[in-house]
Amino acid sequence: MPDPVVVLIEDEPQIRKFLRATLAGQGYRLFEATTGADGVVEVGSRQPDVVIVDLGLPDMDGLDVIRRVREWTDVPVIVLSARGQERDKVVALDAGADDYVSKPFGAGELLARIRVALRRTAGASHEADDAVFKVGELRVDLLHRQVLVNGKEIRLTPIEYKLLTMLVRHAGKVVMYQQLLREVWGPAHTEQAHYARVYMAHLRHKLEAEPARPRYLLTEPGVGYRLASE
Ligand code: CA
Repeated sequence: MPDPVVVLIEDEPQIRKFLRATLAGQGYRLFEATTGADGVVEVGSRQPDVVIVDLGLPDMDGLDVIRRVREWTDVPVIVLSARGQERDKVVALDAGADDYVSKPFGAGELLARIRVALRRTAGASHEADDAVFKVGELRVDLLHRQVLVNGKEIRLTPIEYKLLTMLVRHAGKVVMYQQLLREVWGPAHTEQAHYARVYMAHLRHKLEAEPARPRYLLTEPGVGYRLASE
């Protein structure tokens, strides 16, 4: 098995140095980023086995890094933070983090958390971690938030993009109306099926050659929608 890849997103040089020393000789390949934006790109390009992210980054909140990364991958994310409060842990976990280590922490503790994270995903396929989804002439680049049809960039509204990426995450599978409404609009809107119909119509007009006879955005009558995966 190849050495597990770790992406560390942390602006503090002392912490990076400490982690470099901690992981050295433990059989990990470490890639470092000092800003949230660079970190997102590192995760997209390195396809890591574990991501370690600091919550206080110079350009963006570490929570937003986690939310961005969760748009295309289930890779284990361990949060590092000086904020020791319970509420911050809950927010980080809700944003998609798997684990939380409060600063200051010891090398032994962090290594143990990494091992736990790796065990959780042992044997899991990394196939779905590709940040670029392709079917037919449709190409959705989750890392660069770019949607192309026939090589031409299509501009989507934030809601349209959210709807599309949600379907990409479940490509090939039926997404039920309620699940779709909850994930895109929030738990208070699970009864508003017309939202989904209206926005799906918008998406089809932008992405389909023949919106009335969709090739990608398929309706499963009475159940929900399915994004074609081939
Ligand atoms: Ca920091």
